Amino acid sequence: MVQAHAASRGNEKWLKCEDIEKQFKKKYALHSTCVQGLAQKLKANIATARQLRLLQKQANQPITAKYPYREKKYQTVIWKESALRWRADGRLSLSNQRGTPPLILALPNRYRGADICRAELTWRADHYELCVTIDSGIEIQETQSSGLVAGVDLGEIHIAAVATEKGDTLLVNGRALRSSKQLRNKRHADYTCLLSKCKKGSKRYRKLLKSKARASAKCYRQQRDILHKASRHVVNFCAANTVNVLAVGDVGDIQNSVDLGKKTNQKISQWAHGRFRRYLAYKGASLGIRVEDIPEDYSSRTCSQCKNVKNNAPKGRVYTCSGCGAIIHRDLNGACNICSRAKYGLYGCVQAHTQMYLRPIRRSRAFDTGRKLPTQVGTPRL
Ligand SMILES: [Zn+2]
Repeated sequence: MVQAHAASRGNEKWLKCEDIEKQFKKKYALHSTCVQGLAQKLKANIATARQLRLLQKQANQPITAKYPYREKKYQTVIWKESALRWRADGRLSLSNQRGTPPLILALPNRYRGADICRAELTWRADHYELCVTIDSGIEIQETQSSGLVAGVDLGEIHIAAVATEKGDTLLVNGRALRSSKQLRNKRHADYTCLLSKCKKGSKRYRKLLKSKARASAKCYRQQRDILHKASRHVVNFCAANTVNVLAVGDVGDIQNSVDLGKKTNQKISQWAHGRFRRYLAYKGASLGIRVEDIPEDYSSRTCSQCKNVKNNAPKGRVYTCSGCGAIIHRDLNGACNICSRAKYGLYGCVQAHTQMYLRPIRRSRAFDTGRKLPTQVGTPRL
């Protein structure tokens, strides 16, 4: 489809996606909705590229956004609702073109009989993954009309520091996430080193490439798991404290700032704050919590007790105020300030009173010390 569309771009009239769909309908042993899904995906990609090009043109920038042109090795196959059917034996049947046998898959028991609206078969490094969209029946709640405001400071050592306007705070530890990232980078470097000694395209080269992709994919899954669990902790904490607005410190443009050095640059580029924010937004929506962005400049430098502003960003994990002598957890200080800005429009009106400390995941068994982890109220660790 991409090639057909690319070829038509030389002509005066570009191919319409509906025409492409018609052209490809019976070419493959796929269900007609799969072809339709792929054509719609292409249409959406073209629309995105067009809009990006327009924005670049308006800003008088060189036009770098390209229309889809690259041939993909693996293409995600999409099945829509009409092509999905639960069989009597509890397995899911994904229909193909008439006359060809369907793809029959066994899903985990908890999904058996679920109302599946869409299924996508994707390739992940070394295996296929079936992504299903399920109608859970949970309705998105309207934002609760009354409630507290809470601020979230996103960080590297603590994935999230949350503070409500009443001063209840939560810290979600990010060390598991960081160690997963560090392992990924180490593996990546090792494989790159090995690959550099191989002949490009050789059997060993291909084998190593596959292993590299597999290692990356595993770390990606670990990180996704940690981020999901961490965001669940944050949203549950907000629900328990009757929060209805969750203000997230906006760190969107941090990558565009100055060069911070090799190590910090790598950390920042791998910091999945956008993904974490999305997880917060959709988890919050099912509980009536609205997530909004708040600019967070100077939030970590300002003292949440006396509004004194430091000249430099605080070093280490503790914020020590030179004005009033307060010693506050650095991330909680930031979270209090973000909450204060969201509620009152200025910093320094919210102070931390209570503190909860959570890890997003339990330690893996290999390192399990047998100690019970604090699940509710933890001791402050400064
Ligand atoms: Zn102070």
